[in-house]
This record gives sequence, C-alpha cells and structure tokens, in this order.
Amino acid sequence: MISENIFRAYDIRGVYGRDLTEDVARRIGRALASYMDGEGETMLVGMDVRHSSGPLASSLIEGMLMGGLDVEEIGTVTTPLLYFASVHYGRTGGVMVTASHNPPEWNGFKIWLKSGFISMGRGMEELRDLVISGEFRAASRGELRRNPNAIRDYEKYVADKIDLQREVRVVVDPGNGSCSILTPRVFEASGIRVSAINSEPDGSFPAHPPEPSEETLGDVRRLVRRGKADFGVGFDGDGDRAVFVDDKGRMVPSTPIFTLLIEEYLEKNRGAAVVYEVSCSMMVEETIRRQGGRPVLSRVGHTYIVDKMHEEGAVLGGETSGHFYFAELYGFDDAIFTALKVAEVLSRREEKLSEIIDSQPMYPRIPERNYECADETKFIVVDELSKEFEEAGYETLTIDGVKVTGDDGWFLIRASNTQPLIRLTVEARDEESLRRLEKFAEGKLLEKIREVKGR
Ligand SMILES: [Zn+2]
Repeated sequence: MISENIFRAYDIRGVYGRDLTEDVARRIGRALASYMDGEGETMLVGMDVRHSSGPLASSLIEGMLMGGLDVEEIGTVTTPLLYFASVHYGRTGGVMVTASHNPPEWNGFKIWLKSGFISMGRGMEELRDLVISGEFRAASRGELRRNPNAIRDYEKYVADKIDLQREVRVVVDPGNGSCSILTPRVFEASGIRVSAINSEPDGSFPAHPPEPSEETLGDVRRLVRRGKADFGVGFDGDGDRAVFVDDKGRMVPSTPIFTLLIEEYLEKNRGAAVVYEVSCSMMVEETIRRQGGRPVLSRVGHTYIVDKMHEEGAVLGGETSGHFYFAELYGFDDAIFTALKVAEVLSRREEKLSEIIDSQPMYPRIPERNYECADETKFIVVDELSKEFEEAGYETLTIDGVKVTGDDGWFLIRASNTQPLIRLTVEARDEESLRRLEKFAEGKLLEKIREVKGR
C-alpha cells in the first residue's frame, strides 16, 4: 500500500522504510517519467547527506531510466545547488532527494521542471495518481551519466560574484547537513576568513537537529563573541535557509537581513522589482519603496516566490522564514549565497552588523499564533471572516488567507495547508497598537471558529 499522505503541497515527504521505501521511490521515478512523457529529456538528480538518500536516489533513478528519462547524477549537494545546476546546464529539470530540516528518519523529493515546481494544483495530483495506479507509459530505457563537476562549477560561479572590500570573519555551522559539502571551501574561495563547526557531512546529525534556531546555534553565538567575528550563520539540512547571528552573538531576525540585501540590490539595480510575501514586516515594503524599487507581493511559499521572481524579472526575493532568492541564481533561494552576500555587503559598510540592526526601528510583532480548527471548516472560517472584514470597510488583501491593514499595523489570518490549524500574525507600529490589533483579530477569529463549528 502506498500512503497518499507523502504527496504534500510542495514536495513528497515520508519516513524512510515506513511510507517511503526503495520500491515507492522507484515507482515515483517511473511515474515522473510517464508524467513528463520523458523520452529524450535529461533530468538531474542530487541528494542530501541523510543515510537513506543514497538508496532512495538509486531507486528513483532506476525508475526514471525505466520510464525513458536520461538522468545526470550530481551526488551529494544542497537543494539550491541542484536547482542551479539544472538551469545552468540547460536540463529539463531536477529532483532533489531531501527532507530539508526534518529529523534523520525522514526523507523525500523536491521536483523542479522548467515549467515550475511539481506541487498541488501543478502536477502533484497527477503524479500521485500515477504512482498509485502503476499505469505507466511504455518506454525504451534512458541513459545514466555522472557529472562530477557540478560542485566545482557552482563554487566558481558564486565565488566570482562576491567582491570583498575588507577582510570579513565569519563563523559557519552547516550542522553536518548538505552545506558541509561546500563549507568552508566556498567561503575561502570568496576571500572570507571562515571558521566552521559541524562541517563533516553526517546524516545522523550528531551535533543538533538540522534546523538553525536559538537553541541549535548556541556554539556559533559563543564562537562569534570569542573570536570577534563579523557574524555567524547556520544553515538548515538541505541548504535553502540561513539564520544569522550578529557580532554581539545575538540572533538576527530575517527582516534586517532582508532590508540589508534590498538596499544593496536596489542601489545596483535602480527601480528593480523585489518579491516579498504577505507575512513580511512593513519595514520590507517601506525599504523597497524608499530605495526606489518596485515591491511585488506574493503568497507565502517557495513555489510562489520563485514563480514571481521569474514573472517579474525581480533581482531579489525574501520570506520571513529566512529564505532569500536571487536573480543571479536564476531566481532560486540559496542559504550559502545569502551568507556570502551578507559578508560582501558588510565589507563595504562602516558599521558592524549589530549597529546596523540597532539603528533600524523594529516593529513589534506576534509572529504566528495557532488556533485549532477542523480541516473541514478552516477555509470556511477564513473565507467568511475575509468577507466580513471587507464589508465592514477594512482594507483587506486575500491573495493568501486574509490580511487586514490599517494605519498603525496589520494582521493576517491563514489556514494551514497541512494541519487543522488557523494561524494569526500581527504587526504594529507600537506595542499599544499591537495589543489592540491582537485583541480585535483574535476575538473575531475565535468567535467565527465557534460559530462555524456550532452550525
Ligand atoms: Zn530546507
């Protein structure tokens, strides 16, 4: 039996050996070939450092070959490197074997095609139905090649884009994940003085879970202070999310990193588009406008941001979660490149990172509060609230849940795609407004959840 639950909104994910086995991986490869009608097409396959990634990649590749696809294997890489290489070498697309920041027993597949990511509403349902039915198109076997140059080509490409004006010292923690493949070498190649910890690839993630956070970055924070480094940075398991630590050893929220990058990119690309999403701070839009850029608003989520980057020809994109997207990397997000770019920007600024952060006002915020609501009713709740806010004359935005904006702040109410939850985010210009907005939004939300449940 194949579990339908492994086919998720943006990728395929499951526990290795339980709902994600070699057999399932082979069927997914075969189904992908049928879905793509793929004879003559070449797909790249890369994988993260997890112990199950090798066996799963081999089985996936076997299925793809049986279905007639040609496959180019690039070995253990970061997810951004796999996307980069797929476009850089002009291939039809790529599959990354990874479960991002999930615990070691998990694994999965992220599938990118020239036409976009396979996601729900864009091919994931068809792929799932093919895997389950097993009705595959007959094909003559494809060919397998190994490309040993992808890591070297990527390192050269990104290092060439970094130009330091003074020495920058950085502490890096790839957490034994995929970025260990590139750390410390790509930093050294860019001229950065780097000290790296947990930089041996190890799929059991012995140091800490492969997710950078206040808890997991304790060593980085200490080392930055002790070594008087310019900043520290931690990467998630597959290298698409970066979390920063300033020169005082404090965690840096994503907003000041985003605004630092916005200033940099808009100075060099006058009037260019920058993509951000509905949960980003007001500070982001204000910075884009102040720098003369064109703000482009997107739904939350990797797939949507990458699409918008391409549609709008944007130079930069960012998400509150710490993903940053670059036109230079074909519109994809890349944690390593984000860290290199931050080093470059700091090398040209007089101030330290801590001074830059402290000089910028930070709007108070309630990041994300969850409210339980059944899967059957969560979207009804958000829909009805959205209509009511609109009818009451509030400025509402409905590209992703409902966002209500006033003079002193905003709140966002969204149903979770994967869990029986509704999430509330609030941001305001001051603490008092924050509490007022919070009370209003939470009151309306709880009332509506109760009302819909009671019908
Ligand atoms: Zn990730």
